[in-house]
Amino acid sequence: MNKGQKFSTWYFLIALLLAWLFADYIYKPYMESRSEVPYSDFLAELESGAIAEVNLMDSRITYALKPTSVDKRPIVGGIILSNKPQSPAVKSVVRIPDPFLVERLLSADVAFSGIAEKSDLLDMLMGVLLPLLPLLIIWYLIFRNMRGGSGGGIFNFGRSRARELQGEMTGVHFKDLGGVGEAEVELREIIDFLKEPERYNKFGAKLPKGVLLVGPPGTGKTLLAKAAAGEAGVPFFFITGSSFVEMFVGVGAARVRDLFEQAKKKAPCIIFVDEIDAIGQSRAHTISSNSEQENTLNQLLAEMDGFNTNSGVVIMGATNRPEILDQALLRPGRFDRQIQVVLPTEEGRLEILKIHTASLPLDDSVDLKAIAKVTPGFSGADLANIANEAALLAVRRKAEKVSTTDFDLAIERVVAGLQRKTPLTPEVRRKVAYHETGHALVACFLPGTDPVHKVSIIPTAKGALGYTMQRSTEDQYLVGETELKSRMAVMLAGRAAELLVFSEPSTGASNDLERATETARRMVTEFGMSARLGPVRYAMPAMTYLSGASENRDDLGSDIMDLIDEEIRALVSEAQESAKGVLEEHEAVLHEVARVLQECEAITGSDIQDIIRRVEGVDPPDHNPDPLPIPEAAPTEQEAQGEPHGASC
Ligand code: ATP
Repeated sequence: MNKGQKFSTWYFLIALLLAWLFADYIYKPYMESRSEVPYSDFLAELESGAIAEVNLMDSRITYALKPTSVDKRPIVGGIILSNKPQSPAVKSVVRIPDPFLVERLLSADVAFSGIAEKSDLLDMLMGVLLPLLPLLIIWYLIFRNMRGGSGGGIFNFGRSRARELQGEMTGVHFKDLGGVGEAEVELREIIDFLKEPERYNKFGAKLPKGVLLVGPPGTGKTLLAKAAAGEAGVPFFFITGSSFVEMFVGVGAARVRDLFEQAKKKAPCIIFVDEIDAIGQSRAHTISSNSEQENTLNQLLAEMDGFNTNSGVVIMGATNRPEILDQALLRPGRFDRQIQVVLPTEEGRLEILKIHTASLPLDDSVDLKAIAKVTPGFSGADLANIANEAALLAVRRKAEKVSTTDFDLAIERVVAGLQRKTPLTPEVRRKVAYHETGHALVACFLPGTDPVHKVSIIPTAKGALGYTMQRSTEDQYLVGETELKSRMAVMLAGRAAELLVFSEPSTGASNDLERATETARRMVTEFGMSARLGPVRYAMPAMTYLSGASENRDDLGSDIMDLIDEEIRALVSEAQESAKGVLEEHEAVLHEVARVLQECEAITGSDIQDIIRRVEGVDPPDHNPDPLPIPEAAPTEQEAQGEPHGASC
């Protein structure tokens, strides 16, 4: 019997039961109540000897009449051949207190018996079971679904949300990833194992059960796991840590169980748990007890212990917060292999850009190498986004091909956000222009700073009223003290310009102050760059893997804390003074650049260099030229016809 037939049999039996209950407990009492007669009629019929049988109940009496001659009417083809109304064979009467009833029945020689009143049971059913019925139905549905009942739907809590894709169907291979060479090498072994487990089993070799991919967001961890499944040609189960844990207690653990059950059936395969920190958070460090998360984690640990890798299930997890993971997850036998997926290097960025622009019609001017050079710190996801934005911009301007300008604007969008159309008042525009010019000029004149690419006073959707875009050209692994100080001076140069020109600072520098102060704090407490405090670490170990943010140690004396504050203040003030000094020295350039900026709204780094040349009559310091200068705009119709144009923008 198949599943469908089994269900129909059940439905039929339930329907039969309901029909019986209805007939016996509802329809019959109802019909009886319709044939109700007065007690006096009952007594009269009893005395006349017309009654054959009596049933006594607590509240009513039913009785059957003896057959009369009328009932012996001829029947032809099921039709009674008489139009005389037939009296009901069974009658009912409300029982009134009658101490002589039994005597009457005996003297009338009538068979009688007492029976339990059925309406009592009906009342009980209605009164007790009916209110419970909705609860019973809900309980039944939840129970069925927690045990992995069929189908989806809102009650399908216990079922794992893992999307199963066939490995071949993920369609992802290592050739679709760029800049992950090292991670790829580490995964090769696991792929080989999934492809040919017998080779490994022959030597009794055991593979790591779990592989943890650790790295910043958007570096391609998910893509790597998919590529591993794609290369091995095995099914790929994808689930996010947060979807294990929902509002119902016990659901997370049930889902883990279900996921592993599904996976074992499809072995060899890869289970990928994204954001594993959502369930794998250290139990020791959680301040409030979250028993649901703990149950889920315990179930995961138990499941990982419960199978061996020879069964062909490999678990991969991804996180960008490895420091908060429970140690039990990281011990050998669980996620014992960690693979770092880092931000791509220049070479990696070039590979990623090639992958994401492969299907785009690129203009000859587009130099992917130059784009890779000016995008240090960008993740694979950022680069994919840039390629897509550039394509969208090209479509919007109805061009045939994607140009360097599209890429340039796309990078700007990713870094600064979309431009806002709200116009600034002339006074605010002037202040913003001087503020941004301050940043740009100090970046031009101080050594050890990144070249200025563009300055704009067009507000952005990220909330900035203007921005100065610098472009670092190298992946930075080490930064010297002088360089840090120069960076701080650039950060505070906007404020320095405001002080110089308007004699008072504005609120616009709050973010600059925050960044400069944080840099100074790290110089003092982490990098030992304060002569007065010496080469000592005063910061706690970094709490988060990526931000590097840390707090001061809590065992420091108040005198040390005061000294730290003093040193931070000295460094920040020194940076502001240094910026102010540069701007005072080049004040004429400051005013001219601010004027042009107010006129044009956005100017490039090379525009600024031109202005320096024009105003000071000397070449600006060329310590770090812009590696991807904004290309010259095509001449306008007016220019092409030799007409002069007003502004230099
Ligand atoms: P998160 O930590 O936020 O979950 P992730 O590291 O898992 O991110 P993915 O989801 O794998 O990142 O990547 C997001 C997108 O970025 C991919 O779909 C792909 O388009 C692009 N991408 C990221 N890294 C690479 C790479 N190395 N090569 C090619 N494309 C990449």
